[in-house]
Amino acid sequence: MNKTLILVVEDDRSVQNLMVTTLKAHDYRYLIANNGETAILETSSHNPDIVLLDLGLPDVDGIEVIRKIRTWSNVPIIVISARSEDTDKVEALDAGADDYLTKPFSVEELLARLRVTERRLASMQADQVSSSVFINGSLKIDYSAGCVYLDGEELHLTPIEYKLLCLLSKNVGKVLTHTFITQNIWGHSWENDVASLRVFMATLRKKLEKNDDAVQYIQTHVGIGYRMMKVE
Ligand code: CA
Repeated sequence: MNKTLILVVEDDRSVQNLMVTTLKAHDYRYLIANNGETAILETSSHNPDIVLLDLGLPDVDGIEVIRKIRTWSNVPIIVISARSEDTDKVEALDAGADDYLTKPFSVEELLARLRVTERRLASMQADQVSSSVFINGSLKIDYSAGCVYLDGEELHLTPIEYKLLCLLSKNVGKVLTHTFITQNIWGHSWENDVASLRVFMATLRKKLEKNDDAVQYIQTHVGIGYRMMKVE
């Protein structure tokens, strides 16, 4: 029995039905909110494990809902928006959302996003036990020693590559926007920072994903940012 409680925030009945049917079929528990005000209320009163949030709501802007929830809660938020609204996705991620789904989406996509988020929750709980060492598949980061190992062999990273890898690993499972990453690495986010980021990310991936073609640690989200995946 899956005990994860999902809050579904969606005013479109057909999309809402699709989500609820999917959640029921996979033994998730769920709550429904038809607008932003109810979403905020339900989050504070029922403390869901994950929030699925449509950005286009009839009362409050979805971005506002994220900002409100983030004032007191770190609950993972997956935003749902139309394909044309890439800037909204970036804004939502920068406001504190964890991931996004693009309409129209398939049941498989929805379930995959939920699994990624559940793994992220599980690894966050595990991290509280030992926070100085990060392990993901054959990747190991010893934060206190500043060393990175892949398959037991030390990886030689430049200081920026190491900073990037730490930032991604500390947010494993979460999509990080270009702005968020460049501000964390360089303290600002200028046009050419995003271009440099692309270069550093390419060299980091070359070092990280050289051995095993099947394992992909870092996902690229075109026009949005990057995410480190939790590897089984
Ligand atoms: Ca809507």
